[in-house]
Amino acid sequence: MQTTTRVAVIGGGVVGCSVLYHLTKLGWSDVMLLERSELTSGSTWHAAGGFHTLNGDTNMAALQGYTIRLYKELEEITGMSCGLHHVGGVTLADNQDRFDMLLAERAKHRFMGLETEIVTPEEIRKIAPITNTDGIIGALYDPLDGHLDPSGTTHAYAKAARMAGAAIETHCMVTETNQRQDGSWDVVTDKGTIHAEHVVNAGGLWAREVAAMAGLYLPLHPMEHQYIVTDTIPEIEARDGEHPHVMDPAGESYLRQEGRGLCIGFYEQPCKPWAVDGTPWDFGHELLPDNFEKITDSIEFAYKRFPALATAGVKSVIHGPFTFAPDGNPLVGPVPGLRNYWSACGVMAGFSQGGGVGLTLAQWMIEGEPERDVFAMDVARFGDWVSPGYTRPKVIENYQKRFSVAYPNEELPAARPNRTTPMFDIFSDLGAVWGQQYGLEVVNYFAQGTEPEYETPSFRRSDAFGATGREVRAVREAVGINEIHNFGKYLVKGPAARGWLDRIMAGRIPGPGRVSLTPMLSPQGRLIGDFTVSCLDETAFQLTASYGAQAYHMRWFQKHQDDDVTIENISDKRNGFQIAGPNARAVLAACAGGEVANMNFMDVRHSTLGMTDCIVQRISYTGDLGYEIYCDPMAQRQLWWTLWTAGQPHGIVPFGMRAMMSLRLDKFFGSWLSEFSPDYTAAETGLDRFISFRKNVEFIGRSAAEAERDMPPARCLAAFEVDAKDADVNAYEPIWLDGEVVGFCTSGGYSHHTGKSIAQGFLPRHRIADGREVEIEILGEMRKARVISIPLFDADGARMRG
Ligand SMILES: Cc1cc2nc3c(=O)[nH]c(=O)nc-3n(C[C@H](O)[C@H](O)[C@H](O)COP(=O)(O)OP(=O)(O)OC[C@H]3O[C@@H](n4cnc5c(N)ncnc54)[C@H](O)[C@@H]3O)c2cc1C
Repeated sequence: MQTTTRVAVIGGGVVGCSVLYHLTKLGWSDVMLLERSELTSGSTWHAAGGFHTLNGDTNMAALQGYTIRLYKELEEITGMSCGLHHVGGVTLADNQDRFDMLLAERAKHRFMGLETEIVTPEEIRKIAPITNTDGIIGALYDPLDGHLDPSGTTHAYAKAARMAGAAIETHCMVTETNQRQDGSWDVVTDKGTIHAEHVVNAGGLWAREVAAMAGLYLPLHPMEHQYIVTDTIPEIEARDGEHPHVMDPAGESYLRQEGRGLCIGFYEQPCKPWAVDGTPWDFGHELLPDNFEKITDSIEFAYKRFPALATAGVKSVIHGPFTFAPDGNPLVGPVPGLRNYWSACGVMAGFSQGGGVGLTLAQWMIEGEPERDVFAMDVARFGDWVSPGYTRPKVIENYQKRFSVAYPNEELPAARPNRTTPMFDIFSDLGAVWGQQYGLEVVNYFAQGTEPEYETPSFRRSDAFGATGREVRAVREAVGINEIHNFGKYLVKGPAARGWLDRIMAGRIPGPGRVSLTPMLSPQGRLIGDFTVSCLDETAFQLTASYGAQAYHMRWFQKHQDDDVTIENISDKRNGFQIAGPNARAVLAACAGGEVANMNFMDVRHSTLGMTDCIVQRISYTGDLGYEIYCDPMAQRQLWWTLWTAGQPHGIVPFGMRAMMSLRLDKFFGSWLSEFSPDYTAAETGLDRFISFRKNVEFIGRSAAEAERDMPPARCLAAFEVDAKDADVNAYEPIWLDGEVVGFCTSGGYSHHTGKSIAQGFLPRHRIADGREVEIEILGEMRKARVISIPLFDADGARMRG
């Protein structure tokens, strides 16, 4: 066995083998995979082998599309068979909401180049004749759906990697991973120690145990899962071709042909977590005992949907465990806080996602960044606040909701409230309807009078519409207050702080007492942050960005950290409020005096409000006259009473995130992971206006940004006024022009201030012109829309800056 390697991949399931193959594909051949038993000795060997592209997250869907297309390539390279059955599949909809979801998916697929189709019940009966379509509205047909041989596919990945120089060591159990001073790893196995520059945890069912060897907790948990294979079924035997897959979300089942019978699996409600205290090392080649009790209801439902099943004998039952993260997406990428340690874990659909996970990780390791926004599966989307006590109920919830309609405005209840600020009970008393962001309770809106205390999930305008409109009007006409707890906040200090910020951020770093906005770029010029930088003094800067990107941003900062600079994540250590609206100045003046209230737009000051020492800056994401006021959370309730009392004569009203997202639309302000994400560049999104090409610093991404300045991008962000009906743009709706899809939306919503439906999205640059008519496909309906370039509120900035 070799004793040094550039990369040690731990785990020879489909994911580990895919990572190994992709590392070689992208040019690293000194790589090694360590498997404690034979390849496929975890959840991989008992998978049903189904694959599909459908995924609520667009980038995940694209990576699933990549995975499926890869199998042919693997077969060609290795001469091995993956046992591919490209039979196509339908996902049924038995109610309007589910159908809306499929319509939205179909619309997204148009610009992703996926040839899915909406089909009628009659067409379903032709495509998948064993389906009883009573009560079915329609379905999404995907010609790419299919299944394969899990073992053959895993071995094909392994062979392709070996052919390119990778080593695979089976019967080699990793028992320790110890980091050296220089960041490399000693990987201790029962066959000896291997010195590796990088470690990849692809431990699947044992990922938790492998992570613990590096002192790490990964938020994932195994669940038991069962599928049944029937004896021969006459209706199947009589067919010429293979029966396609049928996903029946109402019955929480997936079905496909196996031999001359059927194979059906369930995501049952009475589901069971497995190996709560850890996965035993001697588990691997056995199945779990059959458990028909937990799937009795599911089977009964399936008999009605697929009557041919009712008389079929059971040939075999496969009952095994596999792992899930709290939101069901994989945990991929460099683990924050650990050098050269990479995660390829929590992959619950290895045959839909394994290829994309391998490609992403290999790009990240070799090229420094993945080619697209992969935040939906980035291991950094969870912070160090996750614990087994949080993960388990979330994983159960995710399993149970695997086939549920996923609404854009849905707030999932499990493991909540988890993290709360000192305002939780005060806001609850004011009628707060809570949402959740990065584990933190965040107010969506405040219900008053007869307004609903629970927002019903919907693809259309929800029942929070009235409350949101009321809060928006309060901000625009008087003054609103909300908490700034869901900003990620960082304190950058030290004599070299300015120099470091100048290198990390593309924009101008402000002088003392001033605030600036700046994009943060990757070397390839992708947007990896949109920051507000406040210069508290020459050696202390406060940065704010998205709350959910804390671990993501800290990972980047630490990777590029210099001596003489300290970077502290103070997201939960500094809190406070923002007040916004025409009366905001008067409220602040009543608490802090006129000098602070009259400070200029983009100024920052230390000030005492009532008894509380604060940092006050004049800036507001509402686009209105506004201030952000930061304090120690221990003093936050005191600050609240100061502002709340001072605000009473001025009509102060609390507002939540729903109103905030409506207000920002009036000014076409972008939002992180919608308009601004690593999928886009600064010039594409207009953030290039904040890049300082004049500063004499080689900031990260400079040459890419300069190249874009010299040759403007093909597509750019635009704003649209939409003739919507009862549903506004959410994200990724296709934009049509002259009968073809030319772009897609990034976000949208209802501007309560103007009574207009607004969208933002990408169009080819040369086709953006004020007033240009386009069509946007919202839930299957073409809605007329027009490009608009003048903000709907305070177009000259008089109120915001005045
Ligand atoms: C019943 C069932 C049906 C399924 N059906 C489908 C389906 O239709 N389609 C689909 O896409 N997915 C399906 N899945 C899920 C699929 O099986 C998983 O997504 C996939 O197997 C995950 O692969 P992995 O490589 O991450 O993990 P695993 O397969 O668990 O592999 C991990 C490997 O790491 C090795 N290992 C662990 N620790 C060490 C160590 N310390 N040293 C050395 N080696 C170590 C293990 O021996 C194992 O081989 C199903 C799962 C189940 C249980």
